[in-house]
Amino acid sequence: MTEHLMKILIVGDGNVGKSSFVHRYVDGQFNKTYKMTVGVDFSVKLLHWSDKEKVRLQLWDIAGQERFISMTRVYYKGALGCVIMFDVTSPSSFRSCRHWKQDLDNKAMLPNGQSIPCILLANKCDLAQRVVSADSIDRFSKVNGFITWMETSVKENKNIGEAMRRLVQEILSVE
Ligand code: GDP
Repeated sequence: MTEHLMKILIVGDGNVGKSSFVHRYVDGQFNKTYKMTVGVDFSVKLLHWSDKEKVRLQLWDIAGQERFISMTRVYYKGALGCVIMFDVTSPSSFRSCRHWKQDLDNKAMLPNGQSIPCILLANKCDLAQRVVSADSIDRFSKVNGFITWMETSVKENKNIGEAMRRLVQEILSVE
């Protein structure tokens, strides 16, 4: 049995659903008022990937951009994958994804020198007030070198496990 340890970063503007995502994925719950700890912390999830492989995921969430600035180095160190999340009802959170991706690519890379596999998640797709179109997300994702993008709803538990499996699969393929 092989066990892979993967540090995964969960990045994006405040209020897009990052803490809820981690909470849902790790504990299987959605709580409207859930707030994670302040600063940088990680949650762990063990995946039984195949008969021969286990994957231990360390999910590093950030709580607030301000603190992120000073935590950058410890936060990025040793990361093998990244989730960049925005809220489909917030164009500014979508625009920020460019900044998050560039910051990631500037400050971190895999041991082999390649950029860190990164998936783009368009969260809160359950909401009727969505304003960011699938076309623009698709273009953005290709131009900025994401492995792919997916619509998610942490609230309705849509594409959460699927998104993480896609990312883990990509990480295993480059390892
Ligand atoms: P973070 O600041 O990025 O960690 O965002 P939070 O996880 O704290 O979520 C911000 C708010 O969005 C909370 O009120 C969540 O309940 C809500 N939220 C998170 N995901 C979803 C979703 O998929 N759909 C809806 N409708 N609300 C969500």
